[in-house]
Amino acid sequence: MRCPYCAGENTQVKDSRPTEENAAIRRRRVCPDCGGRFTTFERVQLRELLVVKRSGRKVAFDRDKLVRSIEIALRKRPIGDERVERMVSGLVRQLESAGESEVASSTIGGLVMEALRGLDPVAYVRFASVYRDFREASDFHEVLGEIAAEPATTHDAPHIAFESSVVETAPLKKH
Ligand SMILES: [Zn+2]
Repeated sequence: MRCPYCAGENTQVKDSRPTEENAAIRRRRVCPDCGGRFTTFERVQLRELLVVKRSGRKVAFDRDKLVRSIEIALRKRPIGDERVERMVSGLVRQLESAGESEVASSTIGGLVMEALRGLDPVAYVRFASVYRDFREASDFHEVLGEIAAEPATTHDAPHIAFESSVVETAPLKKH
C-alpha cells in the first residue's frame, strides 16, 4: 500500500483487527520513509456497481473516491474516521441492496447529503455546495434554511457552525 503522504512503497502494517462487527478489517499502517501513519480497511465487495454520470458516462463505483469526497466535506470537523467508514458502509449497503447494477451519480449524491445532514450540518452544507454547484449566496441560504427548519437535537451551536461554514466554503465556488 503506497504512503498517502510521501508516495513511498514500503509501508508496513502495525496493527490489524476486525471492525464494523467483523464486516471489515482495519489496519494501521506506518511509512518508514516519512513516518506517516494511516488506516486502511479491507471489506467484501459483493459485486460491481456502475455509476452513471450526468453526462451519461458509466464508471465503476469507487468506494475510496466516495470516502475522499466525504472527508473533504468533513475536514476539521469533529467526526472520526470510524464514523465516516460506518456511514459509507451504510450507503454502500443501501446501493447494493437496491438490486440495480447501475446507479445514477445524483442518487449517490442524494444519499450522501441525507447521511451528512444527520451527522454534521457544516459538512452537509459543504457537500451540498459542491454537489449542487452553488453559484449564488442565495443557494447557501436555501440549504441553511433546510437545516434550520429541523429540530436542533443533535447539533451544537448551529448558528456559529453555519457562519463558519459559509466563510470556509466560499473558495469552492471559483470555477
Ligand atoms: Zn511516507
